[in-house]
Amino acid sequence: MQINQERLVNEFLALVQIDSFAGEEREIADYLIKQLQQLGLEVTEDDAGKTINGNAGNVIARMPGDPGKPTIMFCAHMDRVAPGKGIKPIIENGIIKSDGTTILAADDAAGIAAILEAIRVVKAAEIPHGSIEVVFTIAEEGGLFGAKALDRSQLKADFAYFLDSNDAVGTIINQAPSHQNLDITFYGKAAHAGVSPEKGINAIKIAAEAIAQMNLGRIDHETTANVGLIKGGTATNIVPELCTANCEIRSLDPDKLKTQVDQMIAAAQNAAAKYGTKVDIHLEDSYPAFKIPESDPVIQLAVKAAEAIGITPQIKGTGGGSDASILNGKNLPSVVLGLNYQDVHSTNESIAIADLVRAAELVVSIIEHA
Ligand SMILES: [Zn+2]
Repeated sequence: MQINQERLVNEFLALVQIDSFAGEEREIADYLIKQLQQLGLEVTEDDAGKTINGNAGNVIARMPGDPGKPTIMFCAHMDRVAPGKGIKPIIENGIIKSDGTTILAADDAAGIAAILEAIRVVKAAEIPHGSIEVVFTIAEEGGLFGAKALDRSQLKADFAYFLDSNDAVGTIINQAPSHQNLDITFYGKAAHAGVSPEKGINAIKIAAEAIAQMNLGRIDHETTANVGLIKGGTATNIVPELCTANCEIRSLDPDKLKTQVDQMIAAAQNAAAKYGTKVDIHLEDSYPAFKIPESDPVIQLAVKAAEAIGITPQIKGTGGGSDASILNGKNLPSVVLGLNYQDVHSTNESIAIADLVRAAELVVSIIEHA
């Protein structure tokens, strides 16, 4: 396979040196639009940026191909976490890292670079292929907002690969939990804590009793729950009128998720009822669960493609959400592929050039074997 390692590494280095944050992807989006157009792809940009007051949308590119083959989508995200401005990449013994003052942004510039290199190889070597869609999303970090705003009806893909995981190249992530945020507001009644405490109802005490009755932590092998933030009261001499608790619940199983959410809401309502007060419940779907069977074409193709280039594929689940969770929720079968970047979201982040090359090879192989 004709991966051009120098071209691939140079592309990666160029990408990480373009500043890009969620909502501020204009510069990198313009750069990618130009690259994709130079490769002869038809490129559009949607208006996903609007949803977060951002300055760029998702970049969507198409390469038409054999209509007898499935249409495959490759996806990576353009934004990155802080500290990610002014990245100065360094290469040492085949490993690319930052100068230690910033992240490297291999998450997810490695995914973008691997996809671009694969398309360059497919074009240059005239490898027969089906139609290909490339999607570079905005604002993945902290909310998956670009994927959420993607219009599924505008995508032609039969299935999709998201290059965005620290697992080894050859890892195929086929399941992830759903995630719900549960915000509970407990109401009490304010009163002077020293003069007339009997006139008050302590919202913090109600919250404490409710939380004590909640099942939390690892509920079972598929389900977790957490109260992560609690806030209430205004001063020590006032019986607190309000207390809020911010919780999250994750499960691979939608029924277990609902059971767990219901248990926590019931605990809140029972505690409030005991004091004759009320609670406000705000439940929000962060992302839905997915579980793709190994017999599904999206996995079968990745397995075949990996084996064809001497990589042993590993199919596994993850405990976190990603753009793939959102697209699976929109009925586009999607798996996440490993890039083997290390120590992401830290100034120690790094990626081996060999892994970058392997990832690009895998994308070419997927296109070749479709
Ligand atoms: Zn990422």
